[in-house]
Amino acid sequence: MLVVMRDHASRSDISHVVEVLEGAGAQAHLSQGEVKTIIGVIGDRETIYSLELEGLPGVESIVRVLKPYKLVSREFQPEDTVVTLSQGSSIGGGAFAAIAGPCSVESPEQMTTVARAVSGSGAAMLRGGAYKPRTSPYAFQGLGVDGLRMMREAADEFGLPVVTEVLDVRDAQTVAEWADVLQVGARNMQNFMMLDELGKMGKPVLLKRGLSATIEEVLSAAEYVLKGGNRDLILCERGIRTFETYTRNTLDLAAVAALKSLTHLPIIVDPSHATGRRELVAPMAKAAVVAGADGIMVEVHPDPERARCDGPQSLDMPGFEDLMRGLVPLMDLSGKHSGAAS
Ligand code: PEP
Ligand code: MN
Repeated sequence: MLVVMRDHASRSDISHVVEVLEGAGAQAHLSQGEVKTIIGVIGDRETIYSLELEGLPGVESIVRVLKPYKLVSREFQPEDTVVTLSQGSSIGGGAFAAIAGPCSVESPEQMTTVARAVSGSGAAMLRGGAYKPRTSPYAFQGLGVDGLRMMREAADEFGLPVVTEVLDVRDAQTVAEWADVLQVGARNMQNFMMLDELGKMGKPVLLKRGLSATIEEVLSAAEYVLKGGNRDLILCERGIRTFETYTRNTLDLAAVAALKSLTHLPIIVDPSHATGRRELVAPMAKAAVVAGADGIMVEVHPDPERARCDGPQSLDMPGFEDLMRGLVPLMDLSGKHSGAAS
């Protein structure tokens, strides 16, 4: 349920509603715009309805939410969420962020080379996997904490925030010590215990769409993170499973436009995992900007032929520079500015 307060409702009216809700054992989440305050209520439905909140001073209306999510919805928060990192990069609300780096962290030299190149081309954040979700248990599984350290050092040298995957909830605290944004991979999108845990940690989260997840399932997974109190969440469309095999996945651009209207959270597109093919990355990145995405996540490797993971979909560094140059006119057209720290 959402409690919509009257325009410019007083602080005491708002806190009174919150007190009544909390007194009845419900959780109250505030969305405070310049004019309107909306209170998202979570708790036992019957008990909340019996409170007759309509009659309280300052309350304009009560909206019953039938969808399985509310805090992530535009009804709860009409304004775009902007996620800002301590390095100065931001995403959402007109800021378009390119997140770039290798599929997996391989060596300090590799990370420094990539970080230098992608920051020079205008990337807002550095990515790299230290814990890799691999289909085969015999494939390279990542360098773990050593990889986190290599990525942190390279990122710090160029003032970039680090985005990296938390593969197992048991590693969440360790990863959080090294990273700025905690990525939940497609295979973990519905790992509800992990989402609960990340919702309680004070670190921005990047949630990737599951391989066969519907838009409603993505938003419901996102709701777990916000329900825990964490408002800094970025969603990522990374392609879904279809009958098509020419591409690794099928990029669902309609989902990007749909999510932009359904939620206030920033949405990025990962054209690397969506296509699995280097030559399709730039066209799909361009399409993402036009579809309304707030950013892209692209795999970039100094020598894709020798990458330990996902070489065929990785751009080399000049390829990434070209891609970034090609996005500028489309960003202008879409009213977006770079989310990289200036
Ligand atoms: C990744 O971004 O490194 C990754 C493994 O992607 P996904 O979870 O989308 O497959
Ligand atoms: Mn990859």
